[in-house]
Amino acid sequence: MANKGESLSKKTTDGFLCHLNELATNGLPTLTYVQSQKLVYTEQYDVIIVGAGFAGLIAARELSLRQRKVLLIEAKDRIGGRTFTAEYDDGKKFEIGGTWIHWSQPHVWTEITRYGLSIIESKGVAAEHISVLLDNGTKLKQITLADNWITLGKAMEKYSDIDNVQARMVMPLPHAPFTARENVEKYDGLSMQDRFDQVRNALNMTDEIQAMLLALLSMNMQGDIAEGGFIDHLRWWALGDYDMIRMFDKLGRYKIKEGTSTLAQAILNDCQNVKLLLSTSVASVDRTKQDSVIIRLQSGDLILARTVLVTVPLNVLKNIEFLPALNLKKQEIAVKGQCQGGTKFWAKLDKPIGHWFAMAPYPNPITMAYTDDQDGSVIVGFGPEGLLDIKNIETVEKELNKFLPTVKVQYVLGHDWRTDPNIMSTWSWYKPGQMSSYLQILQTCEPPVFFASGDIANGWRGFIDGALESGLKSAREIQQYLDKHFTST
Ligand SMILES: Cc1cc2nc3c(=O)[nH]c(=O)nc-3n(C[C@H](O)[C@H](O)[C@H](O)COP(=O)(O)OP(=O)(O)OC[C@H]3O[C@@H](n4cnc5c(N)ncnc54)[C@H](O)[C@@H]3O)c2cc1C
Repeated sequence: MANKGESLSKKTTDGFLCHLNELATNGLPTLTYVQSQKLVYTEQYDVIIVGAGFAGLIAARELSLRQRKVLLIEAKDRIGGRTFTAEYDDGKKFEIGGTWIHWSQPHVWTEITRYGLSIIESKGVAAEHISVLLDNGTKLKQITLADNWITLGKAMEKYSDIDNVQARMVMPLPHAPFTARENVEKYDGLSMQDRFDQVRNALNMTDEIQAMLLALLSMNMQGDIAEGGFIDHLRWWALGDYDMIRMFDKLGRYKIKEGTSTLAQAILNDCQNVKLLLSTSVASVDRTKQDSVIIRLQSGDLILARTVLVTVPLNVLKNIEFLPALNLKKQEIAVKGQCQGGTKFWAKLDKPIGHWFAMAPYPNPITMAYTDDQDGSVIVGFGPEGLLDIKNIETVEKELNKFLPTVKVQYVLGHDWRTDPNIMSTWSWYKPGQMSSYLQILQTCEPPVFFASGDIANGWRGFIDGALESGLKSAREIQQYLDKHFTST
């Protein structure tokens, strides 16, 4: 076990909880309980890993199991990064960030097998009845899954069918996204809205199907589809086997029963003698000296390492100073950033409503919501950009009432990832043109500095699986680099 603390913290300052008629309180009880360690500043490490999300954790495990001396530095007071499982209300588990996984996500499934974890279904995803908001959120329509899901699937097929073979010519191998580079470049300039405008007339949709299609597209990129790159839609489409129902099952149906935090903790526990510093921010990475990188912490302390793996989210990469500066294109995208994403919240209802699912197109403050538990007393909801104040229970209830006029909300919990200074985004979605211009540059190491993140993965970029893929790849590169330049310490 990497960390055995005496007084184990089970609360993070991340997240909030808001009960009816009460002000929101910050911080949530979590499943992970690790303690930050004391550092001997004169030690030199083989690798310093910046960020203890899944990319950083998996790299720490792989490198430490190969006897490399690893220091993991995390700005937050917990591990897990953009994922954490809050436990509240008689042991109910709430996934505040990344949640759903699938057996076709190869890296995460391997870890589930390795640690003997299991999955549980979010029940509302396959609800028979769907609430759809039409006419700018003013008209509520109840429809059935059976009558509409296949038609929606056909509309999605037309939307995605850019090359008459369901985008197979563009994204034949989504885990090697540049296999058909010319075609990727051809369509990368398109926004999701551009593509919708191209096919809108041919789609010949009812109002309900149009509303559902637009809700689904906006949900996926968590904002205004005019800002989201169409090529990322095609990547998800290919990962979903070019089929809407299969894609949907992979994106939002099955979660880790024991919680994402349990997986994060299991990976950390497997590390061999990794030192972990929590609540510690890296301010700069100086690689001007030969054979040694100097990491400067926000506190001003300096630590030495042979290599550094930077796993921070793309939208906060610009906050770290690199000496000499990073590749110009990396600097450019770090400043531009990817789409920032939107909101996610959990709401506990005063009484169960059974299995239920809802959709509304942008700019409705909730684009998608569904019940998660067996009896339907807990709803998970998503909104575009910052259009819903999820910390305000009355506002959340009012928005839910557009779909469910009589429900009352007992409490709401979540976290504002978009304004979290160490994250500044939800899941990765690139803007038009960014994938062909920047993805490979972002993945390219600048030895002795290496990069990994769910935001720069090849396959399931924007997912836990992508973070694991990227962390594994960088661990391999670092191991090769250290083998070549240094013998093991
Ligand atoms: C609301 C939400 C819903 C999601 N839903 C899903 C889902 O259902 N399924 C799925 O698979 N994925 C989902 N994702 C995406 C998934 O959570 C991420 O892609 C993945 O967790 C990213 O892992 P990572 O290690 O690359 O980055 P992160 O988890 O972001 O880890 C990076 C770490 O770096 C730290 N850091 C930043 N700056 C510094 C610094 N200067 N010094 C030290 N540390 C620093 C951060 O605090 C953070 O802990 C979701 C994400 C969000 C936010």
